[in-house]
Amino acid sequence: MSAPAVVPFVDLRGQHAAMEGQLRDAIERVIGSSQFVLGPEGEAFETEFAAYCGARHCVGVGSGSDALRLALLACGVGESDEVIVPAHTFVSTALAVSWVGATPVFVDVEPTTYTLDPARVEAALTPRTRAIVPVHLYGQCADMTPLAALAQDRGIRLIEDAAQAHGAEYRDARAGTLGDAACFSFYPTKNLGALGDGGAVVTNDDEIAELIHGLRDYGRVEKYRHTTLGYNSRLDEVQAAVLREKLTYLDTWNEARERAAAFYDEALAGSVATPTVGADRRHVYHLYVVRSPARDLLAARLTEGGVATQIHYPVPAHRQPVYRSLPHRALGLARTETLARELLSLPLFVGISASQLERVAELVRAR
Ligand SMILES: *Cc1c(COP(=O)(O)O)cnc(C)c1O
Repeated sequence: MSAPAVVPFVDLRGQHAAMEGQLRDAIERVIGSSQFVLGPEGEAFETEFAAYCGARHCVGVGSGSDALRLALLACGVGESDEVIVPAHTFVSTALAVSWVGATPVFVDVEPTTYTLDPARVEAALTPRTRAIVPVHLYGQCADMTPLAALAQDRGIRLIEDAAQAHGAEYRDARAGTLGDAACFSFYPTKNLGALGDGGAVVTNDDEIAELIHGLRDYGRVEKYRHTTLGYNSRLDEVQAAVLREKLTYLDTWNEARERAAAFYDEALAGSVATPTVGADRRHVYHLYVVRSPARDLLAARLTEGGVATQIHYPVPAHRQPVYRSLPHRALGLARTETLARELLSLPLFVGISASQLERVAELVRAR
């Protein structure tokens, strides 16, 4: 009898093997150009990724977290401001708010899509609220139309955390065009990932784009002229060259993710709660997350059977020690608390094999 397949949570080798020559050529192109920061590859990638999203501007930065930080600054968020963020997200969404001196206000998520609940946002707005940062969680856009209406009504900014949502759609528009600015991460495991850290701010707003250009480059407007307190946060040329090659595969890869998700949807129906896709949304399955009241038993069974799983996220942002003194942590976040106990992320990556998917499904269904 052969040993059952071992299934890693994520494996980038399949994705890279198919394009290894292209990746090496891209890196050699940069070595040959001898331009390593802010050069032609970065500019070309910015043009290409903006076009992919259907937006006017893309400005490459050092990471997704920096994209959030610089977008908040460009939107004028600072000391004594409040910013609405979902409690159910990667902590970086909230950290970026804190970095600019503002206070994250944690709001609960929708019970089915797990994205920021517009009905709860309204109740959390105060005269100090300066921006809303919905997260397109697991690859699915938040319900942007009511959020945009609230933001417009109050004259506040709407900033997408699109770190998990390259290519995700909402009412025929792509993530990146659904607010004042959108923040992408190119961390290696994201749907579009570099060979290291990287990020970008995508926007249709000329002024925001110009501000980000300064903020990522020491506040420089021309050589030796620094007009704002800028930072050093650039997407380097090697990463940009690699991302240009990978961008040509993004649609194919997202389709492969959707096919794997469709297999799980069918194979797991009735055993666990499979993901719900909201109306008018295209989910690109950065993560495939199921829900079960017996999550810990399920996770143990999968581990035992050689299948790696993860939890996104076991400790909600408002429960993190870093936020222990925040006054808002007592707000009603019951859904987030339950999700932290019941969600489990299953292996899903480009190149996951049919037998690996079968193996995962078999173990999830076992009792
Ligand atoms: C990955 C991620 C970030 C941070 O991106 P980095 O590039 O790792 O800094 C922010 N928000 C969400 C939702 C993420 O998944």
